[in-house]
Amino acid sequence: MKVLVPVKRVIDYNVKVRVKADQSGVELANVKMAMNPFDEIAVEQALRMREAGNADEVLVVSIGPAQNQETIRTALAMGADRGIHIEAPHEIEPLAVAKLLKAVVNEENPGLVLLGKQAIDDDCNQTGQMLASMLGWAQGTFVSALEIANDKAKVTREVDGGLEHIEITMPAIVTVDLRLNEPRYASLPNIMKAKKKPLDSKTAGDLSVDIEPRLTIVKVEEPESRAAGIKVADVQELVNKLRNEAKVI
Ligand code: AMP
Repeated sequence: MKVLVPVKRVIDYNVKVRVKADQSGVELANVKMAMNPFDEIAVEQALRMREAGNADEVLVVSIGPAQNQETIRTALAMGADRGIHIEAPHEIEPLAVAKLLKAVVNEENPGLVLLGKQAIDDDCNQTGQMLASMLGWAQGTFVSALEIANDKAKVTREVDGGLEHIEITMPAIVTVDLRLNEPRYASLPNIMKAKKKPLDSKTAGDLSVDIEPRLTIVKVEEPESRAAGIKVADVQELVNKLRNEAKVI
C-alpha cells in the first residue's frame, strides 16, 4: 500500500509571529520556516507503517512556493521515498489544497492519506475533512493511535473529555494529533541520501485545478497584550479583590 502524506511549510513554531504593519497578514520575510509539526507526526507514522510491513511506499506532497522543496527534502531525509512539489503561491486555501490533493490521489492511488490535524499557521483544520468528502472516503480525525488490519483501520480519536475508538474502511483519510508518536530526527547520512531521492515538480495548472482564493482576509490583529499583574499584601486583600473587583468568588 502507498501512503500519501501532505506536508505544509509554515512559520517555525519557535518563532514569535509578527503582524505586518498594514495588517494584511503576518510577516514572512526572513522568518524561519519549518514543516508543520503535525505533518512531521504524519510522516513518522507513515514510516513506522512501512517499517512494520503495512506500507510499501511513503510519498510526500507539498503545495506552495519553490522553497517548499526544502520541506519535502526534510521528509525525504526522515525516510520518505519520493516527493511531489506543486508550485503555488503560499496563500493557498484549504479548499484549493484539497482539490490539488484529490488530483494527486487520482494519479497515485494511495491506500491511505495521512495529514496533520491542522496547520499551525492558519489553524484551519479543514483540508483532511474536505479531501475525504471530495473523494467519498472514510475519515478518522484527531487520531492518537492507528492500527491497520486488512481493509480496515482502527482509529483512536482524541475528543473532548476522552478517547473515541472507531473502525473505518480503507482507503481512508486520517488526520493525526500530537500524541500519536514522536517524530524522528533526520541523521546526517540520511540528509545526504535525501538529496538523491526523486522529487517531481508540477503546477496547479498541470492538474487542471482552480486555486483562486475564495476568502478575503479583512484584517489581522495581534492578540491584546495582557495587563501587568499586581502584588497583594495578604490573603484578605486577595479575597477582597477576587470578590469585589474580579467578581469571580
Ligand atoms: P489545515 O486544514 O490548513 O489546518 O491543514 C491541515 C493539513 O492539511 C496539514 O497538516 C497538512 O497535512 C495539509 N496541508 C494543508 N496545506 C497544505 C499545503 N500547502 N501543502 C501540503 N499539505 C497541506
